[in-house]
Amino acid sequence: MGIPTVVIVLARCSRRRQGFALRLEEQGAGRWFADWAFAVAEARASREGYDQGEIAGRFDFADTYPGCPHCEAGGIFRCGACGKVSCWDGRQQPVTCAWCDRAAPLKGAIERLHAGGDR
Ligand SMILES: [Zn+2]
Ligand SMILES: [Zn+2]
Repeated sequence: MGIPTVVIVLARCSRRRQGFALRLEEQGAGRWFADWAFAVAEARASREGYDQGEIAGRFDFADTYPGCPHCEAGGIFRCGACGKVSCWDGRQQPVTCAWCDRAAPLKGAIERLHAGGDR
């Protein structure tokens, strides 16, 4: 086993419209598990380059995932219009993107995410 790949994905709370970061770890090729989330100021997040790269594969939540740090929602969705990530409570449909305000029904699994290195 090599050193696991860890990346950070920037997200925004659907209710409070505040930024947070998800930590994802790759366990096997293209199998990503979100195992931590923490509140982050978006100005700092863009300095850190959290949205510079992209990861692809299958995404799941580890048992340790604490939920959105602002509203405790346990899920996320990726907007089909702007490609950014917002928290999701697992019930709300259609969902409204916390970044671009586009409302759309959720469909399919997340296949790729903008991500940056964990420094
Ligand atoms: Zn939230
Ligand atoms: Zn959007």
